[in-house]
Amino acid sequence: MAAPQRGFKFNLAIGIYVLCAAIVVGFAGSNFYVLNAAGDVANQVQFNAEANLVSKEVKLQLQGLASDQAEISFLDETVFELYRREIDLEYVQEEIAEDSWLEHEFEHVIIVDEQGNPQITIFRDQLMEPRDGLENIVANFDLIQRARTKYFANRKVRGKGFVPIGDPVWSNNAIYAADYRMVEGQLGMAVAQAIVPDILEVLPDGNPKILFIFRPLNKFAFGQVREQLGLSRFSIVAQKDANPELDQMVIGGVGSAKISAVWEATKPSAHIWEKALPFLAGLLALITVGLGFIGYRYSKIVTRIQVSEERNRFMAEHDALTGLPNRLQFDNELDNIIAKAELNRCAIICTDLDKFKDVNDTYGHQAGDAVIKTVAQRIANVVGDKGMAARVGGDEFIILLRDGLDEESVMMLCDNIIETVCEEVVFDNGSAEVGASIGVAWWPDDALTAKSVIRSADQALYRAKELGRGQTVRALAPNETPERRHNTDRRKSI
Ligand code: GH3
Ligand code: MG
Repeated sequence: MAAPQRGFKFNLAIGIYVLCAAIVVGFAGSNFYVLNAAGDVANQVQFNAEANLVSKEVKLQLQGLASDQAEISFLDETVFELYRREIDLEYVQEEIAEDSWLEHEFEHVIIVDEQGNPQITIFRDQLMEPRDGLENIVANFDLIQRARTKYFANRKVRGKGFVPIGDPVWSNNAIYAADYRMVEGQLGMAVAQAIVPDILEVLPDGNPKILFIFRPLNKFAFGQVREQLGLSRFSIVAQKDANPELDQMVIGGVGSAKISAVWEATKPSAHIWEKALPFLAGLLALITVGLGFIGYRYSKIVTRIQVSEERNRFMAEHDALTGLPNRLQFDNELDNIIAKAELNRCAIICTDLDKFKDVNDTYGHQAGDAVIKTVAQRIANVVGDKGMAARVGGDEFIILLRDGLDEESVMMLCDNIIETVCEEVVFDNGSAEVGASIGVAWWPDDALTAKSVIRSADQALYRAKELGRGQTVRALAPNETPERRHNTDRRKSI
């Protein structure tokens, strides 16, 4: 019996493994995705919290500077001296220039008059030409404008003039504008604040004078901020110089000269992975082993079922002794040709061994089986790929011929069959010779249905037996009267 085909079975077994692998990969993937997403969210929340801290701290630094500045700008004496027609430069040198530099490290100090022009310019503790401050004023005029606007919004009438409503730095009525700026290539804090009286003096109506100051950020100030914030690698830099590996937030500047705070934000995702990874890896290993085992068992079962299914299918369509197709398969094939019109012509050859019973009687049933097997193989070899040879009874074979259908070729094939059957068959306890008789019919020439064409061939076979065996008889066509027989030299009559 030919071995059942195995191809599909293995595919299904592989399919089970692939499914198990897909489950493991899917599980791992979804877990990684969720952890990753959770890590991203945690990182974002953490960054926001740190950015908030930074934002508060940098504002506080500016406010501190404004507060230092207010020691000069929020004073009756300053107002008295600076709003006079003739400014006392000695007062400016001693009380403003020296104080600003020595006490507060204001590198640039500019008093901007009511028209927006630099009226007094100080670099460190040195009085300069007023126009030396022009460039600074122009570059940072937005701060001066904002300080003026705040002053107008937060002043009240006192006597014949105006005074600020509250503290110019620490109240809700603050009148300063501050920012991180680049001045002469240096990064620092700039504050513009209206020069206003604290107790007795009043200001005339109109624009106030503005005190503009700039203090470069020094390493010392940086260190303090960094310590206060507790952030790793914190610094304040021009945005264009920011290290792209670090997190950053713009904290000031104008136009293309933006200024950023940069630092290495804490990444909670690292902790999440640290905690989750060993657990996840363990779980994955467990699932992999579990699914691997289940997959192995299932694929074994599936393989077994498939093998048995294929064997059953094979057995249902084949003869157990010879492995040739059986009647069922033969009928299906013929049906395909006739009912489904696969071909427009075919021949049916019915063969029955002559005096086969004698082999059984003489040598036993086993020897008879051996003869049937050998003869079956020989018939199949003769038919080859021209058609299909089936065993349909004890010593009966039927052949469905698809190719070489002209009478001469078919008769020659029949001769070959008889010839090959007649050859001696050797088995365990001896040898025997049998013959064969054949009946042939053509579809649709001799009959139109499957049943009737088989019957015609069978009747021809019967006549071959009657005529003395060992020969081929052609079926009678419907309009044929004389019997046509085909004698073969190899005729064996026992
Ligand atoms: P005839 O020339 O008229 O065909 O006579 P025959 O001896 O060949 O007998 P027939 O064809 O009428 O019957 C076939 C015999 O084959 C009947 C049975 O004893 C025998 N037989 C049927 N099936 C098997 C089988 O599977 N194995 C064996 N060893 N013998 C079988
Ligand atoms: Mg027989």
